[in-house]
Amino acid sequence: MLFDFDVIVVGGGAGGGAFAYACARAGKSVLVLERGDDRYAGSASQDEQAMMIDKGPYDDRKVDVNGSPRRLYMGGILGGGTSLYGGALIRPSDQDFQPGRYYGRRIPRAIWEWPISYADLEPHFTEAERLYGIAGCEEDDFGPLGRPARGFPGEPLPLHPLNQRLVASNRAKGLRPFRLPLAIDAARCLRCGACAGYVCPTGARRSSAQLLESAVARGYPLQIRTRVEVERLVREPGGRGTLVAVLDRVTGLRTCFRARRYALAAGAIGSALLLLRSGLSHPMIGRNYMFHLATIVAGVFPQATTADSSFIKQVGFADYYFGTKKHRHKMGLVQSLSVPGPLTAAKFAPFLPAAVRQFLRERMLPLAGLVEDLPDPANRVTLGPEGGAKLTHRYSRYDLARRKHLTPAVTRILKRAGAVYCVARKYTSHEHVAHQCGTLRFGREPASAVLDGDCRMYSDPSVFVVDGSFLPTSLGVGPGLTIMANALRVASKAAAEL
Ligand SMILES: Cc1cc2nc3c(=O)[nH]c(=O)nc-3n(C[C@H](O)[C@H](O)[C@H](O)COP(=O)(O)OP(=O)(O)OC[C@H]3O[C@@H](n4cnc5c(N)ncnc54)[C@H](O)[C@@H]3O)c2cc1C
Ligand code: SF4
Repeated sequence: MLFDFDVIVVGGGAGGGAFAYACARAGKSVLVLERGDDRYAGSASQDEQAMMIDKGPYDDRKVDVNGSPRRLYMGGILGGGTSLYGGALIRPSDQDFQPGRYYGRRIPRAIWEWPISYADLEPHFTEAERLYGIAGCEEDDFGPLGRPARGFPGEPLPLHPLNQRLVASNRAKGLRPFRLPLAIDAARCLRCGACAGYVCPTGARRSSAQLLESAVARGYPLQIRTRVEVERLVREPGGRGTLVAVLDRVTGLRTCFRARRYALAAGAIGSALLLLRSGLSHPMIGRNYMFHLATIVAGVFPQATTADSSFIKQVGFADYYFGTKKHRHKMGLVQSLSVPGPLTAAKFAPFLPAAVRQFLRERMLPLAGLVEDLPDPANRVTLGPEGGAKLTHRYSRYDLARRKHLTPAVTRILKRAGAVYCVARKYTSHEHVAHQCGTLRFGREPASAVLDGDCRMYSDPSVFVVDGSFLPTSLGVGPGLTIMANALRVASKAAAEL
């Protein structure tokens, strides 16, 4: 049988980029098919209207979310989420791989333990940290979170004075704040106020698009085609193999490609949609959609902080990862957030006069507390009437209760640093799906998982899934580094068997 490529990778984001890079480096011929442009076509990468309101670099499809059509904040150009992310690439805790220890009967027995351990991913975390040039502070205490054995490859940005206060005042009270490990090159970084959510104007924030481009520049056998959408997987008659059906979004032409192996990496919503469109009928496809539940608390300080005009997402706290003193239930990381721009602030608080919003923005420091939302089969991606994605999602009472307990702990962190007033929003956005995951989970049994422990589909051994879909639980940290490390792990298996 003739193959066009050894490997076809669908989607050039965090998982797809790392997988394609590693396979091409191993000498396999790789084609990356990416739905979006190779870069953001507009000129103003720091323009809030273009980025956050018009959602220029985000996926341009409308998704039905609980009955309302919405455009979601999910990466829609080469690099996927990594072209827009905050670049905080954090190792999870080794205990995240055994969620049954914390949740017991709240989750099915089949996922009490992941099919792999932290130790299985460890070498790949190290490799991902090197490929993305992560800058962090080796001396910091990361509490229950994993840390690189031999330090970080990059030097961190100097701490903003407000963050110095945040760190010192909380250390004095026995907490263990640490520098967020960031995929940001300090030498090229402009310290913009607008970073996460925006295209980086200098390339200082490393993305999977850069990784793919570096593979091409090194002469690895890798081709990238952008503005092509993979519409479905097609089984050839007579069980002869699998093809991908592709739409060229510029010419409108449709074609098929054949490879020895496929890696789906279209994101947890996109890959589930693709399999549903392909007519696959495994009952777990698209289920258990998760994307974290966050509590967002903004501390207001007596004087202007300059946090609104400089880079501020620098500090993390894992002190409440496994709960607070009063509420010993697993939660997740607390980390700094950028101050929202004027237009986003107007969206959040339209009832305040513009001058008051500006006054507050100049004195504000926001923190986000993440809660590891639990998988629920009723939270799912299904096929809408016109072939688009339909999302059904509701947080459980247990998720909401944990957020309620995390909020005062986050407030105390800000008050220690001198915030005179803190505002906590109960607001939950289904448009901010940055940490989407879980819809094609891996596991030891085909009855309760779509993928085996190597992220290969039980129903088609030529297809791997290497984006955030594979996660059976959502972790207490952002999923970026775990997705990259897992994609590198799976790539080593795929390359070895080719
Ligand atoms: C604003 C923002 C901030 C974030 N900050 C952080 C952070 O600080 N730390 C962290 O860990 N995580 C962060 N994340 C999340 C992180 O970026 C994602 O977890 C990660 O990128 C997901 O990787 P993925 O491979 O699953 O999908 P993605 O990276 O989203 O890649 C999917 C790719 O597939 C393409 N695609 C979709 N459908 C098709 C199709 N049918 N055919 C071809 N291509 C297709 C998409 O265009 C996209 O390029 C952030 C995300 C956003 C949006
Ligand atoms: S703060 Fe640095 S990394 Fe972030 S967008 Fe600006 S230049 Fe890029």
